[in-house]
Amino acid sequence: MAQLGGQGQQIIILPEGTSRLLGRDAQRMNISAGKALAGIVRTTLGPKGMDKMLVDGMGDIVVTNDGVTILREMDIDHPAAKMLVEVAKTQEDEVGDGTTTAVIIAGELLKKAEDLLEEEIHPTTIVMGYRRAAAKALEVLDSLSMNASDRGTLLKVAMTAMTGKGTETAREPLADLIVTAVQQVEEDGEVDKDNINIQRIQGATVNESEIVSGVVLDKGRAEQSMPKKVKNARIALLKYPLEVKDLETDAKIKLTDPAQMQAFIDQEEQMIRDMVDKILDSGANVVFCQKGIDDLAQHYLAREGIVALKRVRKSDMLRLEKATGAKTITNIEDLTSDDLGEAGKVYEKKIFDEVLTFIEECPDPKAVSVILRGSTKHVAAEVERAVDDALGVVAATVEDGKVVAGGGAPEIAIAKALREYADTISGREQLAISAFAEALEVVPKTLAENAGLDQIDSMVELRAAHEKNHHMGLDVFQGEVTNMKNANVIEPHRVKKQAIQSAAEAAEMILRIDDMIASAGVKEPEMGGMEGMPPGMGGMGGMPPMM
Ligand code: ADP
Ligand code: MG
Repeated sequence: MAQLGGQGQQIIILPEGTSRLLGRDAQRMNISAGKALAGIVRTTLGPKGMDKMLVDGMGDIVVTNDGVTILREMDIDHPAAKMLVEVAKTQEDEVGDGTTTAVIIAGELLKKAEDLLEEEIHPTTIVMGYRRAAAKALEVLDSLSMNASDRGTLLKVAMTAMTGKGTETAREPLADLIVTAVQQVEEDGEVDKDNINIQRIQGATVNESEIVSGVVLDKGRAEQSMPKKVKNARIALLKYPLEVKDLETDAKIKLTDPAQMQAFIDQEEQMIRDMVDKILDSGANVVFCQKGIDDLAQHYLAREGIVALKRVRKSDMLRLEKATGAKTITNIEDLTSDDLGEAGKVYEKKIFDEVLTFIEECPDPKAVSVILRGSTKHVAAEVERAVDDALGVVAATVEDGKVVAGGGAPEIAIAKALREYADTISGREQLAISAFAEALEVVPKTLAENAGLDQIDSMVELRAAHEKNHHMGLDVFQGEVTNMKNANVIEPHRVKKQAIQSAAEAAEMILRIDDMIASAGVKEPEMGGMEGMPPGMGGMGGMPPMM
């Protein structure tokens, strides 16, 4: 129970069982949760980063080094740690890459803030300093960026995102495929990634992945006797069940003699027959139905030589609309030839153990499908995550036309500029700006560490190299400082911008908290044995109950 003092009288305002942490205790707890979270993903950063194996309650495993995937699978409970998970998710949504970077920068900002708090610097001062530093950092980042979105640059950006992600053997063909896909769906400088559909199928090497201009559905025709291939397809899209509607649950029909029964069945048959006739009249020879199709309807459709697929996903229906020009009909009565779409060919094909339907040669080719192969389920899944990152960075580059060098180069350059900037600021905010500079350097430091290089030596060398050229970064394969632009390690400007921005915002939000109030019954943590995780990493455990 919280009590408000005052003239000897005590007022109880919080219910019993509520726990509460105040001031430095709250900050300390939140900072260590954030740091612990960053500590978990930091070993995965960069091409030489390690993978993690995550096992869920059902025993299913995921092997990955994708930051956001790790955090999503981990089922994190601590409120401050959750805020960093949000940073990763925002990064994923906005750019699709740079999730680990964003989280480790946020963790490092918190760690540096902790040092400043120990020196009795007020959290508000730190927050103000961080804010100024973040604004300045973005300005510097702008000045470092290069304008480019030609195919060559896009290929480099795609390859940088996939380096060290289980796609090594096929990085070049995959990059080529990704850039082709993005360029094909680009419209007025915008890329809608929903128009790129990925089908992941195991059983072949990554090299055998392919791009299909059109839509690919992960299912086959409703009945085997329907044609396997249709040329010059006239396509109907239905969001209407080709079934006799179920009777209302409370409706009862009393049939008294067999003739009535027969009449009833005949009537149902007639209804199905009418629906199929409606489709025939429209001139459609292919039907994609978002709902079910019952056996009798399938039988009639097959007899008329019409291909039908049932229970097609909504997202696929949208892609089909776009690609074929068809209009989705919600009542079969309304179907006319005007609503049909077209495709040069629609056919079914089995790849490994997956039956797929291809819709190709569409009037609007602004929908593409990528068939991604991987030798096993887990390999294919990790390849898909790498490809997803690469699609994100290529799309961002097409949209913004701005790139920066990678390998820690921008972080070093920004840190250097921030230190110079800090010198111009009076008061204690200066210390926070310098701390921000140091926090950004966690990126090159971690790249060095994960590549087995000496952090201090690498940093000394990098800083010296930056006296001359701001593209100098760490080539983790050669273990030396090189010009990353010349080494073709290139990332979109947006990846870095978003990472710095959201890391700074999350750190600021966490630092501002000086009172944590958890209602009774907030569940205790269960993070048994997770390395680097302090007690209380889970729920708000570790918080003393209010006396
Ligand atoms: P994130 O989830 O942040 O994208 P990654 O594991 O993909 O994490 O690592 C990204 C970092 O690796 C970036 O800083 C990028 O510049 C760097 N990087 C990529 N390729 C190379 C390379 N060949 N040499 C050095 N650094 C690289
Ligand atoms: Mg990445």
